[in-house]
Amino acid sequence: MKVGAIIAAAGSGRRMKTDRPKQLLALNGTPILVHTIRKFDACRVIDYIIVTAPREAVDEIKNLVKSAGFKKSVVVIEGGERRQDSVAMGLECLQPGTVIVAVHDGVRPFVPVEDIENVVEQAKVGGAAILGVPIVETVKHAKREFVESTLTREHLVLAQTPQVFRTDILKRAFELAAKDEYYGTDESSLVERLGNPVAIVRGSERNIKITRPNDLTLARAFLAEEAGEKVAP
Ligand code: C5P
Repeated sequence: MKVGAIIAAAGSGRRMKTDRPKQLLALNGTPILVHTIRKFDACRVIDYIIVTAPREAVDEIKNLVKSAGFKKSVVVIEGGERRQDSVAMGLECLQPGTVIVAVHDGVRPFVPVEDIENVVEQAKVGGAAILGVPIVETVKHAKREFVESTLTREHLVLAQTPQVFRTDILKRAFELAAKDEYYGTDESSLVERLGNPVAIVRGSERNIKITRPNDLTLARAFLAEEAGEKVAP
């Protein structure tokens, strides 16, 4: 079963407060995005990779990919205005015969390869699966500066990526979203609107989305741990 990955990396990184998109910031001398692509390059269930890039960084990311020397085909395309537009453009570039598509954030370099395998396997069985972790905080529904209600923690899960779907399901979800002018913050929300069940596969707390400056401190610690694991006997 042919499986393609779309790595969304066309954001501008405004919340990181740098003039560089966050996916291009270096961790241990290597851009975050390259760390992320490596995980998919190393994952046995992924056949090829499409990366969406901001217009002004397409050439730079193409050069990074060339010099990283990945084993698999990694194609860099220009992304769109919003994340959903970028993923839609990635869907247009899937190779013929792609049965399953995995969508991942370029700023999640610590996803364990095993988690990618698990969520892809689940999507092969049920058509749609995402990684998620239980919530440890208490989450409030707020109205302006007041608490409206408290959500039941047992029912809450933090959605991560990869989010993996049968290609025909995801394409239908994008068509419906375009028709309704609906914009979601992940692919699952689009598939949920179709009424398709989406399975939740337990992910790892390490699979953080590097978004704000503090996340870089944690990211450096995780990377040091990963480097240590590689040299450990
Ligand atoms: O916007 P958000 O922080 O949720 O971005 C998650 C991922 O989507 C990032 O890796 C970012 O580069 C990517 N993205 C994209 N195209 C956009 C906006 C964000 O590919 N227009």
